[in-house]
Amino acid sequence: MRQVGSIDVVRCMMCRTCVALCPGEAIDFDKVGYCYKVNEEKCIGCGKCIKFCPYGATSLEQRED
Ligand code: SF4
Ligand code: SF4
Repeated sequence: MRQVGSIDVVRCMMCRTCVALCPGEAIDFDKVGYCYKVNEEKCIGCGKCIKFCPYGATSLEQRED
């Protein structure tokens, strides 16, 4: 099991704090959905996006290896 970041698109205010802080450059802008999404292939599960999101829009989820 590993942990990956996840963004609640309803709560996300698109402030880009997580984009700037993410050490894996794992947060991409989805032009189709017009929202930010975590690229789970790049995410290292560090939790910075959870700690620093001002709107509580991020969480960690479990994934099978
Ligand atoms: S820090 Fe939170 S509100 Fe800002 S872009 Fe990231 S998920 Fe959205
Ligand atoms: S958990 Fe860390 S690596 Fe993954 S998206 Fe959030 S800040 Fe980036």
